[in-house]
Amino acid sequence: MTAFVIVECQKCGGLSVAEIGQKTKMCPYCGTRIRLDKAKRLASASNAREASIILRKLKEKAAEKR
Ligand SMILES: [Zn+2]
Repeated sequence: MTAFVIVECQKCGGLSVAEIGQKTKMCPYCGTRIRLDKAKRLASASNAREASIILRKLKEKAAEKR
């Protein structure tokens, strides 16, 4: 069951974990309110621990591109 999604901030491109059921989520990087129905979902996870692992992997991937 999907409980968490990893979303991309539309303004700064920063990745963060959001809980399913939330409508908005504050970007931890730039403070923009991300609308979860509009945001790009990069991955989903069934629990917070899994979500944080996926988030870390996605950030590592993003860092490699630079
Ligand atoms: Zn942002």
